Amino acid sequence: MATVQELRCRECKRTYPVGPIHVCEFCFGPLEPVYDYAAIAAAISRERIEAGPRTLWRYADLLPVGDAQRVDLGAGCTPLVKAGRLAAELGIGALYLKNDMANPTHSFKDRVVTVALTAARAMGFTTVSCASTGNLANSVAAHAARVGLNAFVFIPADLEAAKVLTTAVFGATVVAVKGNYDQVNRLCSEIAQTRRWGFVNVNLRPFYSEGSKTMAFETVEQLGWTAPDHVVVPAASGSLLTKIHRGLGELHAVGLLDEQPATSIHLAQPLGCSPITAAVQNGTDTIRPVKPNTIAKSLAIGNPADGYYAAKIVRQTGGRAESATDDEIIDGIRLLATTEGLFTETAGGVTIACLAKMAAAGAFGPGDTVVALITGMGLKTAEALTGQVGPTMQIQPELEAFDEALALMDEG
Ligand SMILES: [Zn+2]
Repeated sequence: MATVQELRCRECKRTYPVGPIHVCEFCFGPLEPVYDYAAIAAAISRERIEAGPRTLWRYADLLPVGDAQRVDLGAGCTPLVKAGRLAAELGIGALYLKNDMANPTHSFKDRVVTVALTAARAMGFTTVSCASTGNLANSVAAHAARVGLNAFVFIPADLEAAKVLTTAVFGATVVAVKGNYDQVNRLCSEIAQTRRWGFVNVNLRPFYSEGSKTMAFETVEQLGWTAPDHVVVPAASGSLLTKIHRGLGELHAVGLLDEQPATSIHLAQPLGCSPITAAVQNGTDTIRPVKPNTIAKSLAIGNPADGYYAAKIVRQTGGRAESATDDEIIDGIRLLATTEGLFTETAGGVTIACLAKMAAAGAFGPGDTVVALITGMGLKTAEALTGQVGPTMQIQPELEAFDEALALMDEG
């Protein structure tokens, strides 16, 4: 079912035919797909979704691409983990973790890329591209390889080694740019005007970003078709947060939820790149761009494209915005690992550190259901833990040596 009729400007509401465009020609506002919710409501049901594939494509009715030429590595339907030990540690009643490390390339970016590349193929692109802080690069390269599309991936040259390796292995052309993400992104916008390439987060952005909604859809389905009271979302561009909000609203719009969800949406950023948190905390809509300086490189977007909208949603839904220092990010990674057995990347450390601060500040009621989004996996940013964790003891291969070392440890 081709559900998208046109693209519409979020600001001035002018509409455009479906195609590889992302900004309004009149006001430069972002374009979004327009769905016929009445028609979708007539066709969709909880039963139909539950009978669908064990991927995010079970929500195809609410995605902006058709069934043909799907680019699919199996993204979505990741576990929603009840986190009892972490909840007890933080004093939260009911805490769940949406574990998007379980995606094919181990981050939530597989959700947006599977949708973006499906749109790219439908529009006849043979080369796809992106500006990336790492996870998106991995995902674009892998999905492109799956269907034989050419991939050009642009990254800041100082990216974590693991993220470069896990992109290059798929055969993508990896362009390391001597600059920060915002400079890489600007370069990609210029290239997009001179080459007929499908840039997933430039000219395909209206399609790409819609994939993020599936994280909200799955969470509600996994909670037995109930919206959570709180969601804690890490933010770089702010796009994921706006799409969680849109996704929750759409579930009501198509009749899958009886009431409009009253979920409070909270935002987490690293202190070294926290322009959206700063805006929320200062009570302003104006996002002041910053020069990122943080170990959470996947969140290091100093000039966030959707920051204005994300800040507005946090305020409207009664959410909070927090930030975490580099040390707190490391503590967050270790806390999650030692309480729940999940090793997340630095962005996940930001989420857990900010979740802890929100809990301590009384953001969550005792009976509330809280969901934190864990968007990427720890092996990709392992160097952030260098010198922080290692062998507990080092011994000669002899029983006595072990007994002695253990006795010393017990004393310590
Ligand atoms: Zn407009």
